[in-house]
Amino acid sequence: MTRELSCEICVIGSGAGGSAAAATLAAAGSDVVLLEAGPHHVPSTFDQREATMMPRLFADAGLAATRDQSIPVMSGRGLGGSTVHNTGLAVPAPRAVLENWAARGGLPVSVDAFEAAQEEVLRRLGARVVDNDEINANNQVLAAGAKDRGLDFVVARHNRDRCSGCGYCMIGCAYNKKRNALFAWLEGGVTDGLRIVVDAPVDRIIDRADGAIVRGRDLEVRAKEVVVAASALRTPVLLRRSGFRSRAIGGNLRLHPFAPVAALFDHRIAAWRGVPQSVLVTGGARFLQGGRGGWILMAGAAGPAATAAFVPGHGRDVAGLMARYGHLAFAGVLLHDEGHGSVRARKDGRPEIRSWPRGDDRVGLVEGIRALAELYFAAGAREVFLPFTRRPRVGSASELDGLERLPFRPYDVTLSSVHPQASVPMGAGRDAAVRPDGRLRGARRVRVADGSLFPGSVGVPPQVAIMTYGMLVGQVMAAEPSR
Ligand SMILES: Cc1cc2nc3c(=O)[nH]c(=O)nc-3n(C[C@H](O)[C@H](O)[C@H](O)COP(=O)(O)OP(=O)(O)OC[C@H]3O[C@@H](n4cnc5c(N)ncnc54)[C@H](O)[C@@H]3O)c2cc1C
Repeated sequence: MTRELSCEICVIGSGAGGSAAAATLAAAGSDVVLLEAGPHHVPSTFDQREATMMPRLFADAGLAATRDQSIPVMSGRGLGGSTVHNTGLAVPAPRAVLENWAARGGLPVSVDAFEAAQEEVLRRLGARVVDNDEINANNQVLAAGAKDRGLDFVVARHNRDRCSGCGYCMIGCAYNKKRNALFAWLEGGVTDGLRIVVDAPVDRIIDRADGAIVRGRDLEVRAKEVVVAASALRTPVLLRRSGFRSRAIGGNLRLHPFAPVAALFDHRIAAWRGVPQSVLVTGGARFLQGGRGGWILMAGAAGPAATAAFVPGHGRDVAGLMARYGHLAFAGVLLHDEGHGSVRARKDGRPEIRSWPRGDDRVGLVEGIRALAELYFAAGAREVFLPFTRRPRVGSASELDGLERLPFRPYDVTLSSVHPQASVPMGAGRDAAVRPDGRLRGARRVRVADGSLFPGSVGVPPQVAIMTYGMLVGQVMAAEPSR
């Protein structure tokens, strides 16, 4: 039997963007129903094992990838979306990037107002700079190598409260110390009357002049307006399946690719313990000044399965390396990517993602990989493991010669993505899918409020900027005279 609900605003997806939009609207007095495809994960059931937690917390059991399987692309499924299993870095979008986006009409408010809104989001997240004694050995070697190489670095802010340092953030905090979207937005939202339905995947939106109908499995919601926040991978799929045809939907995807590099040290690193990512090496982040290009170096979340998947080689090579797991440092290059990929709807309703770095993006990744390998040798690494199949391990900085000439096709280089974004971009021009007030072009009653909205790549971990977009779209809606 189909359950029927009606409300003023139906928000689809409860991650960083959707929870911020829903709670903001509920606080302003709107009658809001929030639909979430996945379940409500209860932290006391998190068993700190990758084998059981990855399938539970991640969309497609954590196995989603680009169409040719060359880049795994991870995102969350469940109340709170990807904020439940993210690593807790709380980094605002840089001003230069925001200025670049504002020039294209890609912000709902001025740059100053967006920055002020990001401060509000940081406050809600309880973001604080990681204490010195929380910087684990994996991040200490990054800082030491950066100092030696003359690369700028910062100790980042995190949304974690009285963290025990167990290190399992990426498979959900069993101690419930992450101030994720449930703490920052949904708890208050429910107090303000927000209704939440979990296990409620939406298949289609029917956008009519007299109101919208949201159809899911066993559920139909009638609403005056709909806010789609199903993530940069699934918002374009849902919009396409609902019949919206704009070419800008799904065509501007940025994967924010991450190229992993590991290093073997004589001293013990135990990279899986402690706050996983506290040091950000910003020395190559050209986008911090010019709004475009460059990379940051940051540690990887180094659980045993993730490390084994990303170190180079197969079989005995990996087994040999994992026997020295305790001495492995693990980090990577996070690229501010300029080239775009695409996401389209497959017949089975899942996203079909196409993306591979080319041109300047490829140059930037190789530059970052070299910089990280040199940094590790400067910090005392015995051996460095590169993401190139043709040169998987090097014993000294001189062996890095010629990296730029190595093949760089799919499967030649190990890459991954945990920050897909910008697939339904906001902007003033017709090439943008969404207007600056969050309205989807060509739709009557549909807005977007998640990481899809970025006009381009943000360059830094995106949750703060996504929550800010979600909150601002909610505020714009709440302020409209019709409400
Ligand atoms: C391993 C990992 C570590 C990360 N670490 C950090 C970090 O430290 N700092 C940082 O800033 N960012 C981090 N991120 C990224 C950040 O968490 C995401 O970019 C952000 O949460 C995306 O917000 P969103 O609202 O766009 O989508 P999501 O947070 O992914 O939420 C989308 C929600 O929509 C739901 N949904 C999808 N389709 C439907 C449908 N049809 N019907 C109903 N609901 C639907 C999904 O189930 C999901 O819950 C990390 C991500 C990963 C994967």
